Amino acid sequence: MSELNLILLGPPGAGKGTQAALLTEDFGLPHIATGDILRAARDEQTELGLLAKKYMDAGQLVPDAVVIGVILERLGDDDTRDGFLLDGFPRTIEQADALGAQLEANERRLTAVLLIDASDDIVVKRISGRRICRKEGHVYHVDFDPPKHPGRCDIDGSELDQRDDDTESTVRNRLSVYHEQTEPLISYYEDRGLLRRFDGTHAPAQVHDHIRATLATLRLEEHL
Ligand SMILES: [Zn+2]
Repeated sequence: MSELNLILLGPPGAGKGTQAALLTEDFGLPHIATGDILRAARDEQTELGLLAKKYMDAGQLVPDAVVIGVILERLGDDDTRDGFLLDGFPRTIEQADALGAQLEANERRLTAVLLIDASDDIVVKRISGRRICRKEGHVYHVDFDPPKHPGRCDIDGSELDQRDDDTESTVRNRLSVYHEQTEPLISYYEDRGLLRRFDGTHAPAQVHDHIRATLATLRLEEHL
């Protein structure tokens, strides 16, 4: 079986996390999310991990070169032999170039870059309507999945809160960072014939089916 080397792209709130979980389950691929990997490297106290720790402890952004080093090191682990699912990396063209060079040096290549897309307004509506129960973390949405009694959890009756990260202004901020930083990657991978677009406004199961069909076609083409 050929490798399935995938990158997930898309704005926050478009459903990347859900698709990552489903794809990991389908194909048994390691889900490599930048934040998780940085924390793991820090905890394992690898050389790069300790370097990353310095920035994380200071509340600073971990520099590109360190992120690249940690991720590329992770891609050398045995469990990525049949493929991987990168999530949150690459985030910049520099990172994409470094990834491309490393894969090429190891005679590997990307299978596809999966873009789960949704408009800013939809993302804002999805995230800013989210409410979380204080006691158990049950999740609601004021429009799409409202509790029976406003502001109260159906299951345990505790109060529902909006997370600080979920306010409209925070979401708009994250979106502008996304547009500025990550969107150039869309044309980068489009130019290389690797980009596949999926409509994140559809139901998660439908997006998932669509991704599976696309991957099946790509694999068929590989064997032609
Ligand atoms: Zn609850």
